Amino acid sequence: MRITDDRYCRDRMRLDLALRLIGHEARTHTIRLWTGLTEDRVRKLYRTYITEHPGSPVTRRRGKSPQRCSYFLRSPRVQQEAAVLAGFFCMAGILAHGWRLDPRALPIAQGELLCTAYETYLALVAEPRISFEHAAFLVIALARGDELALRPCTGCGALTLVDCCTLRAVACNVCAATPRLPQPLPSAVRLRRARDLPAAARGAPAPAQLAPIPPRAELPS
Ligand SMILES: [Zn+2]
Repeated sequence: MRITDDRYCRDRMRLDLALRLIGHEARTHTIRLWTGLTEDRVRKLYRTYITEHPGSPVTRRRGKSPQRCSYFLRSPRVQQEAAVLAGFFCMAGILAHGWRLDPRALPIAQGELLCTAYETYLALVAEPRISFEHAAFLVIALARGDELALRPCTGCGALTLVDCCTLRAVACNVCAATPRLPQPLPSAVRLRRARDLPAAARGAPAPAQLAPIPPRAELPS
C-alpha cells in the first residue's frame, strides 16, 4: 500500500511538472528529459493541457533544443539576463559548487526548481528575452562547466556569465561600459617617485645663490 502511494505521488509530480513545462512551451524532448515521460504520454498531455486551458495560447514547438553556448554571449543584454537567470538557479539550489547535474537522470524536484527560477526571472525582468528552452539548456551548460562559467566581476563583484576559456579580467556589462578613471597611486609609490625627481621638478624652490652685498660706503655715487 505504501509503495503504491509513493508511486502515485511520483507519477502525479511527474504529470504536474510536464503540464508546467508545456505551459512554458518546452519542446517534447525537454519535457521527456526532465520528467522521464514517454513521447506518446507527452503528446496526450498536450491535448489535455489545451482542453483544460482553452484561452491560453500555447505553441507546441518542434525541432531540436538549443545546443550552442555562444547564444548567451552574443549580446550584452542576453549575457546580462543569462547571468540574472543563473543567479536565480543558484538561489533555488539547482546549481551548487562542486555538484554535477546529470542530464540523463534529472530529478523531478530539480525540474520544479527550474520552473520556479524561470518564473521568477519572467516576473522580475522587463521584456525577458531568454526562452524556457534556453533556460533549461543554460542549467545543463553551467552544470557541465566546460564552456560557460559564472564568475564575479573584478570591478563590482556582480555575478557574470563568461566563456570558460577567456583570459581577460571578468567585467560585467556595467563596469565594461564605464570609462576607467586613472587610479591614485599608492602612497609608497608616490613617495619613491618624488625622491627620484630633481627638486625643481618636485616643485621645491632651489637654494638661492646670493652674492655678498658690498658695504654702503663703497657704493658708487
Ligand atoms: Zn561590474
